[in-house]
Amino acid sequence: MNIEEMTSKMKKYLRDRATEPELKHKAELACEILRLKKEKNAVILAHNYMSPDLYYSVADYTGDSLELSRKAAGTDCEVIVFCGVEFMAETAKILSPDKTVLIPAEKAGCSLAAGITAEDVRQLKARHPGVPVVTYINTYAEVKAECDVCCTSGNAAKVVEALDSDTVIFLPDEYLGRNVARRSRKQIIFPPRVERSRTEPPTRDGNMIVWDARCEVHEQFTPADIARVRADYPDVVVLAHPECSPEVVDASDFAGSTSAMIRYVEETTASRYLLLTESAMGENVAAAFPDKEILPLCRIRCPHMALITLENTRDALKYNRYIVEVPEDIRKRAARAVERMLTIG
Ligand code: SF4
Repeated sequence: MNIEEMTSKMKKYLRDRATEPELKHKAELACEILRLKKEKNAVILAHNYMSPDLYYSVADYTGDSLELSRKAAGTDCEVIVFCGVEFMAETAKILSPDKTVLIPAEKAGCSLAAGITAEDVRQLKARHPGVPVVTYINTYAEVKAECDVCCTSGNAAKVVEALDSDTVIFLPDEYLGRNVARRSRKQIIFPPRVERSRTEPPTRDGNMIVWDARCEVHEQFTPADIARVRADYPDVVVLAHPECSPEVVDASDFAGSTSAMIRYVEETTASRYLLLTESAMGENVAAAFPDKEILPLCRIRCPHMALITLENTRDALKYNRYIVEVPEDIRKRAARAVERMLTIG
C-alpha cells in the first residue's frame, strides 16, 4: 500500500478527527510500519482499545487480549508486536514462548494487574487451603502462575461454574467478581488485600469478602451518567463492560466483553448506542459501523492504552524493543492456568 492509499484509508476511519497534514504524517508512519513488519516477519496485534489511526492501519489482528494471543500463537511469524498493555503482551509470550514478543511502550501498565501480587495469592491460598483460585486474565504472569485457572470477562461465569468446588477465590477485579457472583450458584470469596487487612477490615457484601482492585476506567461510570444520557436520548441502548459496577450493569441494557459489545452493535438495529468502556473502542466501533450512531458521551481514555502510538510501534519494530520476557518456570505454570481456561471454553 502506498502513502496515498494509506492516507485515504486513514481519512475513511478518522473522518474529521485529523487534519490533512496529520493524516499524511500518520500514513507515512503506517507505511513504514508495514514495510518493517514484512522485513522482520512480524505480526501486529491491536487491542480493541487502540486508537483508530493504529487500529485500522497496521494491525493484522484486532480483538480482546486472549483472542489476539491465540491468533498470534497460530501464525508462523517470528515476532509479535502487541499493541496493548503489559499483561496482554505477557499472555502472548506465555502462549508463544519461541517467538519474540515486543510491546511498544515499556510502561503500559494496568490498575487491575497492579492490584495484586504473587505473594498476595500465596497468602490467600494459605488462608483458604484447597479453595480453587480463578484469576481474571488482567494479571501479570507471576500471579497467573499461582492460580488454578484464568478467565476473561466473556467466560468468567462459565469458568467459575465449571470448578468442582462450592467455594471459589476470584481475583483481582471487585466489580467483575461481583457481577459474576450474582449469576453464580457458588459462594464466592473476594479476598481482602493482605497488607491492607491489617489496618482495615475487609469489605463485606453478604457472605462474600471483596477484593478491591478495579479498572481505573470502568470504575468511573455511574448510574447517574446513564440516567442523564437516557433523559436526552430515551431510545438509546446502553452497553456496559462487566468491569463496571453491578449498579451500572443493572442500569444498562447489555453487559459483555469488548468483543461481545462489538457483536451486539453489529447484530442489532437500535437508533443509537452508548458504550460504557474505554473511549477508543467507541471511536473504533463508530468507524466500523458508519450507519449506526454511537454517542460520543461518557468517554474515558485508559492512560496506559494511550501510551501506544504509531510512533512507538514503528520504533518497536525498528529497534527490536521492548522485549517481553517471562521466566520459564513462571511461564509454564501460568500457561497451565490459561490452558485450563481454554479447555473450559
Ligand atoms: S482499561 Fe482498565 S483494565 Fe484495561 S488496561 Fe486500562 S486500566 Fe487496565
